[in-house]
Amino acid sequence: MQIRDSIRTIPDFPKPGIQFRDVTTLFGDAQAFRMAIDNLLHPYAGARIDKVAALEARGFIMGGAIAHQLSVGFVPIRKAGKLPGPCMSESYSLEYGEATMELHEGAFKPGERVLLVDDLIATGGTCEAGIKLIRRAGAIVIGSAFIIDLPALGGRERIEALDVPVHILCEFE
Ligand code: 5GP
Repeated sequence: MQIRDSIRTIPDFPKPGIQFRDVTTLFGDAQAFRMAIDNLLHPYAGARIDKVAALEARGFIMGGAIAHQLSVGFVPIRKAGKLPGPCMSESYSLEYGEATMELHEGAFKPGERVLLVDDLIATGGTCEAGIKLIRRAGAIVIGSAFIIDLPALGGRERIEALDVPVHILCEFE
């Protein structure tokens, strides 16, 4: 499959024992990038989507392209301390320690229908923090879309348990 084949694996990044799935090679391949953006939207064809939200940082590259394709606005959800305006924050546990994601107050109007995107879902913790932020803003997460799933880590089940549909293009062990 061209999308999966365009993803490079870097061993021992960012630390020994981790196989990092590098999507920069997919983004650099015009055909694979277009196919990925189109395929991510397939199950949502015809759905009303008011905004696309994406998770820092690689999610922004996809989110911008998807928002452009849908002619809707784009909203970034960023790591703590990066967004300049007043923010809402949501913390979640990592294997070692904690991380915090932030959303600008007023980024969504109550009732807006949002598609949430990122490059990869592992444990689902980052995505869950994003869903909680969007819901706290009064908006509705109508679905989520990822290029890669690491199914051994259970992220899909975690997000589906929050009643958010999950669409993923390929898997790596
Ligand atoms: P989770 O919160 O689901 O455990 O981790 C997902 C987040 O970590 C995503 O924002 C994703 O970009 C990043 N991530 C974790 N491992 C990888 C990887 O191997 N490749 C890429 N591209 N991103 C990763």
